Amino acid sequence: MGVTSDAIAAAGEYRLELRNWLGEHLTDRYRGLAFDGAPTQDWLTRMREWNLLLAEAGYAAPAWPRRWGGREAGVLEQLAHAEEMAAADAPGPINVLGIPNIAPAIMTFGTTEQQERLLGPLLRGEEIWCQGFSEPEAGSDLASLRCSAKEDDDLYIVSGQKVWTTLASEADWCELIVRTDPDPAKKHGGISALLVDMRLPGIEVRPLRNMTGSAEFCEVFFDDVRVPVSARLGAENEGWRVATATLASERGGVASLHLSVRKRIAALLDDARAAGRTQDPLVRERLAGLWAQGELLRLLADRAITRAAAGDPPGPESSIIKIAWANTAQLVPEVALEVLGIGALDGQWGDALTAARAVSIAGGTTEVNRNIVAERVLGLPRR
Ligand SMILES: Cc1cc2nc3c(=O)[nH]c(=O)nc-3n(C[C@H](O)[C@H](O)[C@H](O)COP(=O)(O)OP(=O)(O)OC[C@H]3O[C@@H](n4cnc5c(N)ncnc54)[C@H](O)[C@@H]3O)c2cc1C
Repeated sequence: MGVTSDAIAAAGEYRLELRNWLGEHLTDRYRGLAFDGAPTQDWLTRMREWNLLLAEAGYAAPAWPRRWGGREAGVLEQLAHAEEMAAADAPGPINVLGIPNIAPAIMTFGTTEQQERLLGPLLRGEEIWCQGFSEPEAGSDLASLRCSAKEDDDLYIVSGQKVWTTLASEADWCELIVRTDPDPAKKHGGISALLVDMRLPGIEVRPLRNMTGSAEFCEVFFDDVRVPVSARLGAENEGWRVATATLASERGGVASLHLSVRKRIAALLDDARAAGRTQDPLVRERLAGLWAQGELLRLLADRAITRAAAGDPPGPESSIIKIAWANTAQLVPEVALEVLGIGALDGQWGDALTAARAVSIAGGTTEVNRNIVAERVLGLPRR
């Protein structure tokens, strides 16, 4: 099956409609409001307003089914959406993990009551969601998680700790994965997923300040928190399926990440020109190499998107793209400092240098992804 001309035409129409809508609604109050640090009150207020506008127009989650407020946008329409939003510097919805990761899991595994209660406020940004997966001793090896939930009549009593939980300080809800069987036959068994109200007594959230100075993620402690059994997402002890489905949605989004990296590369070219550095042949070589790396990333993404649009299963590029994206995103501020000098540390390039360290960790580390490429793409033996 190939990409059909109807799909291409529909994406073109979608693009124009969104571009017109952004021209009308994206004012300076909202432009450039990306989540890049501690969520201040002002940021939250403006993001909530903007999120509501997006949701009312069907642009908060275009890939979602219409019955939940989406547009059932196909792959090419989703691509057009990402490109137009990036070009206009328009922020996405507030639920950076809720929309792409958590909501699809609720649609797949949730009860009708859970779907009807939770999806609307999540889409509109009225309720903020966090994803409570990682623990101090369970990150890449997530199945080692120890946060426990013991059943007591119609309740689970939850105890343990999560860490690196993005947006937990603002969250109303958490998709929490817990151990419901302490002694399963296999490590991936005995895990369940819960949809936890973050206002329940016994939950303590401690923001973690990282080296960029911001506190976007937190430690979350659960001390005998009483969660109703009805809050379980999916079957008991089958939470691993829910967790992997949640993370698969997260990884699926990387195809359009080249947009932000290539925008940064273009900004660096402008800064280098303005600083009069582009006559130096060594600088030119460095910048040209970086630009080529950005274009390679775009081509990898195009390949992944073409396969998806044609209904083909993901190919090797989907495994490589996160590694390539992380490498390039980290290289941009490094080259910026080489080209612009140490003075550039005191500004956006210094911020970018520290912020970029996280991209080879979040959503699966580069080392673990290299193992996946070695074993599943290259067919090398497991260590
Ligand atoms: C910006 C950011 C936001 C995040 N948001 C969330 C969130 O909202 N919710 C959440 O649950 N988590 C979140 N995380 C946590 C993230 O999922 C974990 O950091 C990640 O899974 C890695 O786990 P870890 O930090 O425990 O490192 P570890 O798994 O302990 O790894 C430590 C080092 O060992 C390497 N390593 C581990 N295993 C192997 C292996 N088998 N082979 C080779 N090398 C290996 C890793 O690559 C890494 O370099 C976030 C992280 C970041 C950076």
